[in-house]
Amino acid sequence: MKIGLDFDGTIVDCRPRQQAALVAAAAACGLAAPLDLDAVWQHRRHGATLVEALVACGIDATEARRIGACWVETVEDDDFLPHDPLLPDALAVLTRLAARHDLAIVSARRRPDGIARQIADLGLADLVGELHVVAPGAGAAAAKAEIFRRRKIACFVGDTESDLRAARLAGIPICLVAAGQRDGTWLARQSDDGAPGVPVLGTLADFENWMSDALLR
Ligand SMILES: [Mg+2]
Repeated sequence: MKIGLDFDGTIVDCRPRQQAALVAAAAACGLAAPLDLDAVWQHRRHGATLVEALVACGIDATEARRIGACWVETVEDDDFLPHDPLLPDALAVLTRLAARHDLAIVSARRRPDGIARQIADLGLADLVGELHVVAPGAGAAAAKAEIFRRRKIACFVGDTESDLRAARLAGIPICLVAAGQRDGTWLARQSDDGAPGVPVLGTLADFENWMSDALLR
């Protein structure tokens, strides 16, 4: 069976890089007020865009949009990519999954070369048979869904509502993990629309357990 996996927030902790890039973007835009990075992160975990999170933290809307645009331009710069650490247990879980299944990472990134280098640097290259990168933004879910269909990906694990939309467009099962961009409450709300239940789990280790149970059913 081929398992699809999101990367940011599912395999790696996306918080350190996002915060490092935000500090730099705020400085580049001349933000005078101190930035509460933890508060911004919590707003994002509850479903806000970066600009919405900055505004919720008291930043003027025009300034927030400038910082947000700068952040989008720079967050995948080479200087920031090493800020993505593997989430706890990710390497062990991927090693065990790769022994029994084909693994495909499907990620929304601006720079395919950057994520490919990260996968190698994090010691995942021998575990992941396929890497597919789609453009971030409004079209990401449809583009991911097309890859799910074309590459015959049987199920997907991700950390955002966009991942959920992609799996539903392709008609494949999805598990959501709350270790990344969105928290469990937000994710449960996104998936609570009367469609067949979507497991909202903690981490990849929980996904591995869910997979084991599902295969026994
Ligand atoms: Mg993600």
